[in-house]
Amino acid sequence: MIDACFLFLQQTNSTMNVHEYQAKEILSSFGVRIQRGKVAQNTKDAVTAAEVLSEETGTSWFVIKAQIHAGGRGKGGGVKLAKGIDKVEEVAGSILGIDLVTPQTPPEGKRVHQVLIAEDVYYPGDSEPEEYYMSVLLNRSTGRNMIMYSTEGGVDIETVAEETPHLIFTEDVDPAVGLMPFQARRVAFNLGLSGNGFKEMVRFVTALYKAYVQSDSSLFEINPVLKTSDDKILAVDAKVSLDDNALFRHKDYQALRDLREENPVEVEAKEVGLNYVALDGNVGCMVNGAGLAMATMDLIKQAGGEPANFLDVGGTANAARVETAFRLILKDPKVKAILVNIFGGIVRCDRVAQGVVDAYKNMGDSIQVPIIVRLQGTNADIAKALIDNSGLAVHSAVLFQEAADKVQEVLRYTDTLS
Ligand code: GDP
Ligand code: MN
Repeated sequence: MIDACFLFLQQTNSTMNVHEYQAKEILSSFGVRIQRGKVAQNTKDAVTAAEVLSEETGTSWFVIKAQIHAGGRGKGGGVKLAKGIDKVEEVAGSILGIDLVTPQTPPEGKRVHQVLIAEDVYYPGDSEPEEYYMSVLLNRSTGRNMIMYSTEGGVDIETVAEETPHLIFTEDVDPAVGLMPFQARRVAFNLGLSGNGFKEMVRFVTALYKAYVQSDSSLFEINPVLKTSDDKILAVDAKVSLDDNALFRHKDYQALRDLREENPVEVEAKEVGLNYVALDGNVGCMVNGAGLAMATMDLIKQAGGEPANFLDVGGTANAARVETAFRLILKDPKVKAILVNIFGGIVRCDRVAQGVVDAYKNMGDSIQVPIIVRLQGTNADIAKALIDNSGLAVHSAVLFQEAADKVQEVLRYTDTLS
């Protein structure tokens, strides 16, 4: 559980995802060959985009792709061919504005605000286009970058890993040395390439690795990488996760953030400097310190609940901050109880307790769920007395287990009400 949480937080908290069309622009700027295209917000612009693209590339068939921060779009009907400019308006219109459901979206889907109009790179009559899988990521167990690739592209890589793991190759790259030419050649060789295709793949993987390093990304996933019958190697799809912590070095990438794709509460939390990650459960948590926050999530699970969020309020748990945190947690309608678990090391527990009481009073009717507060550390006893004597519907607890039991108790109680 802790491991899972940790990986999860690493994934969600420190990366910024971009759309496919933006990812391709980044790749292209480093010399990675891509399927060319233009983004459009409405059907009229889609037609114009197709006209311009047609002039630039000579193509008359297009593929129209929903731009959402989720994969599996093909399966959900978010990737469609338009065989001629006259088909573009209708096809784009059938994707724009829908709530696209894919294996990677929430059940209600994701609203499509933009489509990518791209050249159809699967030539008509081409009987042997090859689709490969390629990703670049950090191998945490070796502390090195890694290129993961497979001949089985265009399909779910998780399925390949499960059913035919021997078809997945990895190439570990020493970050100090970079990708060596022999390594790029090994990739091309393992993919079964020869002649021009081999040379093209060496060029592709070399440019891709350079792009990964220089863009300060934490994940590239190109699925599929396509080899056309005339031996062009290009990125047909692209997922790029940029490292949030390095964004200060890439002012131009900051503008690529699409807030419509992000959880609104997470966005708001970021603005007020709180470390919040939305989860699916029913118990809101307010904790100081990431380690304690994860232990608290475990505790909630043991008590039969599911955490509704990860929230690290950090060192300054004063009334204003506690109130902001409560308001954020309560924006999630699934929250049935809130567990406050604070260790007072630098921050004094009685200050936090006073913060909780003040915030509670301030918020009046907007708190409709029970709150369990566990404060441990400096002045914990004064803090407990403060909570107990406040006359508010706040339950205090001293021990971790006690807090868990109380969570269970209030959950059972709310269950009988609903
Ligand atoms: P994903 O489903 O979200 O991963 O989106 P992709 O960009 O990977 O597209 C899904 C599938 O659509 C690909 O695996 C291809 O088989 C197909 N596809 C993508 N671009 C083209 C194209 O230009 N022409 C044709 N015929 N098929 C394409
Ligand atoms: Mn794909």
